Amino acid sequence: MIKFQEVSKTYPGGHRALEKISFHIEKGELAFLTGHSGAGKSTLLKLISLMERPSAGKVAINGVDLAAIKAKQIPFVRRDIGIIFQNHRLLERYSVFDNVALPLIIEGAHRKQLEKRVYAALEKVGLSDKARCNPTTLSGGEQQRVGIARAIVNSPPLLLADEPTGNLDPELSMEILQLFEDFNRHGTSVLIATHDLGLIARMKYRSLTLKEGRLLSDPLAQEALS
Ligand code: ADP
Ligand code: ADP
Repeated sequence: MIKFQEVSKTYPGGHRALEKISFHIEKGELAFLTGHSGAGKSTLLKLISLMERPSAGKVAINGVDLAAIKAKQIPFVRRDIGIIFQNHRLLERYSVFDNVALPLIIEGAHRKQLEKRVYAALEKVGLSDKARCNPTTLSGGEQQRVGIARAIVNSPPLLLADEPTGNLDPELSMEILQLFEDFNRHGTSVLIATHDLGLIARMKYRSLTLKEGRLLSDPLAQEALS
């Protein structure tokens, strides 16, 4: 599903954020990406979602080499990737329903289909009764769940989350992780960047650790090279 081969990223100005990263995440896998602030986690996710391009090496998603993707095709590739941010980035002027509907509106979905899928997504995150609310009236945990509903509304095969529990207490964080587990059980591949080591320790999943732009301690990392 995700394959990095000797990927490096140097930002303009010369800062090297990632250094020869190689790993492979299988279809249907759930994995964590950990490391201190500044280790390169967001950069790695941005290379997958085509928000940044690598300086060297190869990134492939679903067997497609991202280097071959032209700017015009990026929106189509992104449809297959649900992205969840720490600060959820909801539009405050719009209802919960409209926020979740956004990816479908961009896709040009028909109204009836759109409604069905938005309500299905809200039901999955336990917010069916909040559709008409304004996101600012919801709690932090609920707002994060709206962000998750928006990310999964078009059933992408891959979910990326950047510090999805960063602003939540441990109990709410666990609930959010259980949602990711649910999606994963239904076949979605999930990659979660977090520096919350306590949370990871309570889960049984693989974790990729970045330190100063280098990948540490992943037994499967070397296999991606062969
Ligand atoms: P993390 O998500 O692990 O906190 P980042 O990927 O955000 O790490 O950042 C890795 C390094 O790259 C940091 O030193 C950061 O300051 C730098 N960096 C990130 N984005 C940019 C950018 N757009 N321009 C220059 N440097 C950047
Ligand atoms: P988030 O917490 O959502 O990952 P950040 O606060 O880390 O976002 O970064 C916000 C934006 O600033 C990102 O687009 C990131 O690439 C950019 N950025 C981060 N570090 C630097 C840096 N040292 N120089 C320039 N841009 C940076």
